[in-house]
Parts: sequence; C-alpha cells; structure tokens
Amino acid sequence: MRLTRGIVCECSGASACPDGSNNGTCTTQVNGYCFATVEEVETDAGLVELERTAGCLPPDESGFMQCKSSQVPHRHPKVIECCNSSDLCNRRLQPRLPAYPADPLPPALSPAPAPGPQPALLVAAALCLALVAALAAALLLCRRRRRAGKRPPSPPAAHLAEISSGSGSGLPLLVQRTVAKQIQMVESIGKGRYGEVWLARWRGERVAVKVFFTTEEASWFRETEIYQTVLMRHENVLGFIAADIKGTGSWTQMLLITDYHERGSLHDYLQTAVLDPPALLAMAYSVVAGLAHLHMDIFGTKGKPAIAHRDIKSKNILVKRNGQCAIADFGLAVRFVAERDEVDIAPNTRVGTRRYMAPEVLAETLQVTDFEAFKMADMYSLGLVLWEMCRRCGAGGGAQHVESYALPYHDVVPADPSFDDMHAVVVVQRMRPPVPARWARHPALAALAALMAECWHHNPPVRLTALRVKKTLAKFHKDCDVKLV
Ligand code: ADP
Ligand code: MG
Repeated sequence: MRLTRGIVCECSGASACPDGSNNGTCTTQVNGYCFATVEEVETDAGLVELERTAGCLPPDESGFMQCKSSQVPHRHPKVIECCNSSDLCNRRLQPRLPAYPADPLPPALSPAPAPGPQPALLVAAALCLALVAALAAALLLCRRRRRAGKRPPSPPAAHLAEISSGSGSGLPLLVQRTVAKQIQMVESIGKGRYGEVWLARWRGERVAVKVFFTTEEASWFRETEIYQTVLMRHENVLGFIAADIKGTGSWTQMLLITDYHERGSLHDYLQTAVLDPPALLAMAYSVVAGLAHLHMDIFGTKGKPAIAHRDIKSKNILVKRNGQCAIADFGLAVRFVAERDEVDIAPNTRVGTRRYMAPEVLAETLQVTDFEAFKMADMYSLGLVLWEMCRRCGAGGGAQHVESYALPYHDVVPADPSFDDMHAVVVVQRMRPPVPARWARHPALAALAALMAECWHHNPPVRLTALRVKKTLAKFHKDCDVKLV
C-alpha cells in the first residue's frame, strides 16, 4: 500500500525512538513503515530474555532491517515484522521467535505418542519441558557463538572480534556494539557500489551509517579492518566511529558508522559550488594531505602501515564544513606490512573505478608485489580529482568564469565506460583531460595544472608522491599568500 504521508508508529525499546518522539510514538517519512522486533538478549546474570522494540522505518529499507526476516526458520536471535496499513499498526504486531525444534527431547518424554486421554497434565508437562529445552538450546547457542573464535567458517559476530583484537585504533568492540544499537536512522543520503549511506542520530549527534548490501560482507570486513588500523585517524580521512554486524544465516546486517559531512561528496559539491583560489588551494591541499597520511608508514611497534586506497575519485572524497576534504570508502584499500615486506591481502589487478584507473591498471602491467606501484596508481587518480576541482575555480575579479562540472574523460568516453573504452583513450591514445587556456593566467590554477600533469604521467615512477605534492602546495600557498587573499 502507498500512502501520501508518513504514518504514526508505536515507538518503544532502547534504540528505536528518534529524538523528539513523544508519547512513545514516532512518524515515518512518506511510504515508511512501522516495525516491531523481538530479540534474544542476554541479561547481566547470563539469562536469555526476550526484548521487544518498536518504531519507524524509512521507506525502501533496502537490506537495512529486513521486514521479511521472520520467515527464516529455526534458531533465529531476532525477528522483525513491519506494517504500513494504519497509524500505530505496529501495536498489533506480535513478532515471535520461531519455536526451537523438538529433537532435543528424548522420545519417551515427547508428547506425541501419549496414549489415551490424560490431557491437561501431559500438555502442561510437555510445555514445561519444551520451554526448558528451548532455554537450554538458546544458552548453548549463545555460548557456542561466544566460543566461535577464529574457527572457519565463523559467524559474522566473530569477524568483528577478529578485527578489533589487537588493532588499537577506534573504540573498544563492546562500545562499538552499543553505539550501533543506539543509532536512529534518519534518511538515505547516498548509494555506492557496496552499500547505502544513511544520515543517522547517535545521542543527538549526526553520524553517517553505511549499510552494506547483504552480499558485500567482504567489503564491510575490509573497510572496518582498514579503519581500525593503528594511527589511521587524520583530519583529512573520514573519522571512524563504530562497526557492527549481527545476524545469522540469511539475516545479516552490516553497519559502518562514521562522522557525517553534510556537504556530501566532492563530486556532488562541485556540481554547484564555485571555489575562489584560496578555497581551491586549501581543498586541494587537504586531499593531498589525507592521501599522504594514508601512503605514509610510521615505523615502530605501534607504527602505521602504508595504505593505498585504490579507488580515489571525487565520489569517495567528502567535503567538510570548513572546506577541507576527508578521504572515504576504504573497501578496496591495501596495507603494506613492512616487517614481512608484503601486501596484506592478495590484491587483484583490475579493481577500482574504470574512469579513474591508471594506465598500468588498464594495461594490467601493475606489479602487484610492489607496494609503491599501488601508491603511484593512487597518484594518477588524484591528478584527475585535482582537475575536477580546478574547473570550478573562478580566478577572482567578480566574473565567475569557470568551466561546468565534469567527470574526467566525460568528452571522450560514454557514461559507464568499459575497460576497452578507457584503455583506448588512456593507454593507446595517451589522452589526458584538457587544460583550459585561462588556467595559465592564474598562479594557483597554473601551479595545480603543472602538478596534475606530473601526477597523471604515463610512466608511474615519474609521478610525484603525495608528500611531494603536499609540500609543493604548502610552499606555494605561503609564497602566494599576499596575491591570493
Ligand atoms: P560505496 O562503498 O558503496 O561506494 P561510499 O562510502 O563511497 O560507499 O559512500 C557512498 C556515497 O555516500 C558517497 O559518494 C557520498 O555521497 C555518501 N557518503 C558516504 N559517507 C558519507 C558521510 N560520512 N557523510 C556524508 N555523505 C556520505
Ligand atoms: Mg564509494
């Protein structure tokens, strides 16, 4: 059923009620749903209790909480039911955990073969036994899950334990799980290849929650792992808050909670924003500073491994309120383990976004055993991002003479270019984005034009490093300060 307004829902339970919900109700967005869940929770005393939660769900919940999960058969820790038929319809929802199978009961005690009619007593006894068996099974399941450790194939919860043990960056695992339980989804703000990103609230603060598509567990795992890398935090890297994964079998919910940036991705921002030269320089500098931090390794026992991003593009860079950027989306990143002199996962060659792929990635000549090669490929993509920024920079004087926003190679390849399209342009013809004549007339644009050309050079070792670009921009900014402001 489609409604033209939101509906009012019962709202109860620890994590379901958004701020401002009153009298135990909340109102959904148009086409939203009411939901009710029942979940097994473990009390402090180690007992298993059932907890009911009710609240509002946004429309198109695409994998976030799966309204159909109650059809999953046995031994399910959580069941959800949804409705949108009328206001407060979820008051009538009574989701029940499916009964545990009766097989733990010895045949002699099973109610089935009871001869003759001794009804009430037998039924009561059987019910009691079933309850005891169910509780025992639940406890057993809980304990087994806790012990699951690193045994493959491990349930999703064990992954989180693996990731957080010993990594040292980010909140402790239990705190992360609590945070994940306390968030309230507000609205969907972006979609990428691996998931959908939501604006959410956590204790009155705005946060971003990436909800991974159920098929993308590996991507959630990788991104969480990277964010928990020691010394990963930097003002130009998206700030990680928490990760959580719950569910079993066909019901899995994987979340990644980070800082929220209302200006969205650089790609979206540049569509409408026009930058003045100081703003362009500050923005370019911040992206390069973020990338230099990722690429850098810091030696020592609590050192930081070098990280290559492998999917640098304007959609994976966020714009902060102060005009600086934060690099995001680490689903494809690789780390270099200096002690073992190796890349931490088996990297496949052709990953990333085709439009931004370096010539050696397109030609499949990138040496995957050489970590520097991944950094050089990042630098090529960064060159393209700098070009996207420069087009939106007006050189002052009032007249906003800028180029319209465009993706790199927008004029020579189709909207969703194939490998072959990109290969023909970037490798065979060795084309690069055009530099407008007006850029030469402005020091900041001219300087960046020179830098981007050295970033997207065909020959990877000739490209500048992130640290080099960062230093050059810092110096330029200092020298030109008087002219620029
Ligand atoms: P994917 O791995 O699916 O590509 P991303 O992490 O790149 O997911 O996020 C997809 C989009 O969601 C981004 O391009 C951006 O528009 C938006 N987005 C992601 N994280 C945030 C955030 N923290 N604040 C604001 N918008 C965000
Ligand atoms: Mg992305």
